[in-house]
Amino acid sequence: MNLKWTKKKLTVVVIPDVNQAVVRLRIPNFLPYAAAVLLIALISISLTMSYLHMHSLSTAYELKSELALINNERNETVNSKEQAIRELQNEVITLAKQAEQMKTKVAEMKTFESDLKSIAQIDSPAQGGKETPAPKGASTAAAIGEGGSLIPVTQDEILKLGQQTEVDMATLGKEIEVLRSNLTVTKQKVEEKQSLLRGTPTIWPTTTTTVTSNFGYRRDPFTQNPSFHSGIDFGARENDPVYAAADGTILTTGSDSAHGNNIVIQHPGSIRTWYMHLNKINVHVGDNVSKGQTIGLVGSTGRSTGPHLHYEVIKNGTSIDPTPYLQSLRKDDR
Ligand SMILES: [Zn+2]
Repeated sequence: MNLKWTKKKLTVVVIPDVNQAVVRLRIPNFLPYAAAVLLIALISISLTMSYLHMHSLSTAYELKSELALINNERNETVNSKEQAIRELQNEVITLAKQAEQMKTKVAEMKTFESDLKSIAQIDSPAQGGKETPAPKGASTAAAIGEGGSLIPVTQDEILKLGQQTEVDMATLGKEIEVLRSNLTVTKQKVEEKQSLLRGTPTIWPTTTTTVTSNFGYRRDPFTQNPSFHSGIDFGARENDPVYAAADGTILTTGSDSAHGNNIVIQHPGSIRTWYMHLNKINVHVGDNVSKGQTIGLVGSTGRSTGPHLHYEVIKNGTSIDPTPYLQSLRKDDR
């Protein structure tokens, strides 16, 4: 039956122009159907191609987005690394500045130690090592970034700064060790000086400022005959406090017709001080007393014409003029 159908013919009449002959085309009957099928196939192929094209475009777009994302992430990583490097560089600069400040402080401490020795009159150089001069080279490093304008630094400069700072820190560490050792020795020497000063008579032994009789030759107040006065008399009031002129130990306390109630203090070294005519003795033999401590009260006991303190300084067993030992009126002065 199909065969019969395909054998049928269709006549297509083509009229090109009024003056030309009519063309008759005899085409097989199935040809329009075949053309229709072909057209549908073409449309289908075209749609498929179009779909595939769209799909590939979409895939390309996705890939592009992914690539952009990866690129962003990479940039962020690079940025964060650069940021970390910048922070590290800034830390190196901060450390270098700290090293500079430390150098200044160490130099100040050296001056302080030197002043201390000068004040305490310690001439001998402190033990523990010689003084190391301040390291050079870092001053240029510390100048980076100063001056207001932005001067970028290179990686090499930062590296050198870091190395210099490391050297500076190591040098400072050694200097501080030497300084600590020197200061320990100086402190010990100052303490020795302080102890010596505390043990040296320097203060007036009572509150008065009136000297009624100096050290030396004089007319005896009882006999009016020339005599030698082996101390200084202070015209104090009865029961005024009598102060130890320096740190020491009570050597003797006693009472006799010449000296009245009296106290002798042994100070470090070979110096003794003697306090006479007291109304009251506040200390006992063997007591340790400190400079300015009240040891008794002014009186007029013994060979005395009225309330006063006879004060004597004895060096190597001989009474000497106490005047050089009266350096301060204030009993609190050491
Ligand atoms: Zn006297």
